[in-house]
Amino acid sequence: MVDLRRMATLITLLALVALGGCREGPDATSDVEAEIVVDEPAGPATERSVMVLCYHAMSPGATAFYDVPTEDFAEQLALLDERGYESVLPSEIADYLEGRSDLPERAVCFTFDDNHASILTESKPLMDRYGYTGVAFLITDSVGARGSLTWDQVRELQQAGWEIGSHSHSHERLTRLSPGEIEADLRKSKAAVEEQIEGECVSLAYPYGLYDRSIVEFTGEAGYRVAFTIDRGPADWTDDPLLLPRQMVVNGNSIDTFGRWLDQEKLHFAEIDPPIGQGVDLATPAVTARLADDGVAVNALEVSVDGRPVAYEADEDARELTFSPELNEGANNLRVNYYGTPRREVSWVIIHEPN
Ligand SMILES: [Zn+2]
Repeated sequence: MVDLRRMATLITLLALVALGGCREGPDATSDVEAEIVVDEPAGPATERSVMVLCYHAMSPGATAFYDVPTEDFAEQLALLDERGYESVLPSEIADYLEGRSDLPERAVCFTFDDNHASILTESKPLMDRYGYTGVAFLITDSVGARGSLTWDQVRELQQAGWEIGSHSHSHERLTRLSPGEIEADLRKSKAAVEEQIEGECVSLAYPYGLYDRSIVEFTGEAGYRVAFTIDRGPADWTDDPLLLPRQMVVNGNSIDTFGRWLDQEKLHFAEIDPPIGQGVDLATPAVTARLADDGVAVNALEVSVDGRPVAYEADEDARELTFSPELNEGANNLRVNYYGTPRREVSWVIIHEPN
């Protein structure tokens, strides 16, 4: 297995040491090195992955796309329990990624977006049977609105061991807001949650799963320790804490499909260009990605953009694939799948901003 975080840390460290050496001579080198080692967070000590699931409303016999039938959720919980999954919360994922603690070998994180009152009436009672807890990501502007949890109910969830996160204040597509508006929204929703609950609001779910480099930076500066997208595949030890993927569960996902998600691992790239979160002005940019997983042939991958298959060139020696997806203006979802054993998947958002 490759340890990408360590590799990146080592490269940064060597570069800084080299820089220090050139500038100030050999004696200064060890000082620079010592300083960097102290400043660098330890990172995870183990190679864990966690299946983060994203739900919205639930009701018996639900028919709407984002509403999961309560009976389907019951089946999903039974399968997770049968396979020995333990639930973890965003703060535990943050602790793990910061190197402060470990995660169980089979970890699942239940997340619920958009304040639906059905968290309390449908989802939580079923989860209670297995001792599972989750996180409610609140649109703070609409807590208490029709069909939404009230702040009293939010506190009830927290007292039952759930975590309360932010899903922004306005639920706007953050990629369409100005830097000032993004910053204000992220700080406002965190403060609104903290005014109503005990302790800190450490986690964020990006509205519509949309992000770019500046949104991720504002998220960190606002004090969130972890943030979730709706990119696909499991989260794992290699992830940026502010870009954690979540598997969205919707109406009609069969229990077989759900089981396959649990068997999947992340597909790892050592390098992606343009980097994740960087906007592009070209409609058909050249994307290159260097594969890090041993045992996966570059030409065995399947690439798609918003569900449309994309042809690519594979360079097995360099372990690189190159492709030019046709992008629409705004957010596009790039996805790479490997259908060998184990199945592997990764996806990310690329924002096309024509000049
Ligand atoms: Zn939402």
